[in-house]
Amino acid sequence: MRTIIKNGILVTSKAMYKADVLIEQGIITDISENILLDTNDLVINANNQFIMPGAIDVHAHLAVPGTVDDFESGTKAAAMGGLTSIINFTNPTKGQSFLENLREWKDKAKCSYIDYGFHSIINECSEKVLAEIPKLANEEGVTSIKLFMAYKNDVMVSDLDMYKLMKKAGESGMIVNVHAENGDVVDQLRKEAISEGKTAPIYHAETRPASLEAEATNRAIRIAEVANTPVYIVHVSCSDALQEVERAKKRGRIVYAETCPHYLVLDKSYLELPDFEGGKYVCSPPLRDKQDQNSLWEGIRKGSISTIGSDHSSLLFEGGKKIGFNNFTLIPNGLPSIEDIFHVVYHFGVHEDRISLNKFVDIMSTSPAKIFGMYPRKGTLEIGSDADIVIFDPSKSRVVSKKEQHQSTDYNIYEGLELQGRITHVLSRGDVIVKENTFLGEIGRGKFIYRKKFTLN
Ligand code: MN
Ligand code: MN
Repeated sequence: MRTIIKNGILVTSKAMYKADVLIEQGIITDISENILLDTNDLVINANNQFIMPGAIDVHAHLAVPGTVDDFESGTKAAAMGGLTSIINFTNPTKGQSFLENLREWKDKAKCSYIDYGFHSIINECSEKVLAEIPKLANEEGVTSIKLFMAYKNDVMVSDLDMYKLMKKAGESGMIVNVHAENGDVVDQLRKEAISEGKTAPIYHAETRPASLEAEATNRAIRIAEVANTPVYIVHVSCSDALQEVERAKKRGRIVYAETCPHYLVLDKSYLELPDFEGGKYVCSPPLRDKQDQNSLWEGIRKGSISTIGSDHSSLLFEGGKKIGFNNFTLIPNGLPSIEDIFHVVYHFGVHEDRISLNKFVDIMSTSPAKIFGMYPRKGTLEIGSDADIVIFDPSKSRVVSKKEQHQSTDYNIYEGLELQGRITHVLSRGDVIVKENTFLGEIGRGKFIYRKKFTLN
């Protein structure tokens, strides 16, 4: 059976025009004006709505122990929110083979509703680990690793290990994700705060200052420069860190920056909400100042920020965040965001005139696909691309409420916001998985995305 989307306005990262889209066997096979219908065609009338490539979230933490979204609820929420692909982080177990670990994660993802890939988090550097990195890229289609400069005595790696791991990854055609905060100094600041009786959530932000994010961002970029490896700075939250990325780009370095919707829209005053409500907003890096939001939007416009990741971490408030009621250092880090990222960035970006619609498609879909080896199969609407498509009605609106969400958390960080624009259909490889607020996807229909090695394109 063929599917034809008629009467819509097709939007890519570069263009916008009236066109019909023909889909056969999950692939786009024609884009042109007035495609002729056959009697058996499934016809979707887009009725002057936007037809865009499905969004790609390259920063998700589904199925992490202690969180409540597995690949079933997490990818359902993602699809309801216009995402058609995710790259999720694996969680390594110390001493376990990374290839064996990857196999376990592929099992966890079998119930996925949308297509998925993985970044391997690497938190140690032995000969065995160094030998496994090329296999991830050459045999498993996992062409990115993730390193942490924060979370001392947990996943943090030393500068020396970061250098060795980056070098090996670069030689293997991979790109390296880095969480850039100075973990040693953050650890000390947290100890000092607690010893001074500073236990409230706001001290989470005070003990992770922008300077320490900027310092680590520069250090990651400079070490990657010496290791000759492309680097991707995850969740850039502030102007100071972004300036380090911009300086490196001026030097001609291959460095990309991601930000998250919460850094664009929320600020650190949320951490001071009464009755420990501020605990709901604890993430790392922390929410910053209002001026930082302006710098991040400017970075998106200039192209120094390439992507937006959700950094979705489905921690509960009751029984989760509240563990840190008397001590902010015990509050588990992370925010739920996978279901709202598309609508939030559209509203504050396009609707409020901060970015163009083409730029929106670029940061939500095209750039992430290019950087992480999925383009042009994903991230664009061209003949030969997977029919991963969002149909979006800019005239509709909605108020965000946890009552209507599909992610499993007991709160929503965007609760009560009225957002302009609403997704009406989501197609994944041609299957209509969301239609007018109804979820139609079949469990386990998502496929593993075998990604290509890093190239400049
Ligand atoms: Mn992180
Ligand atoms: Mn993360």
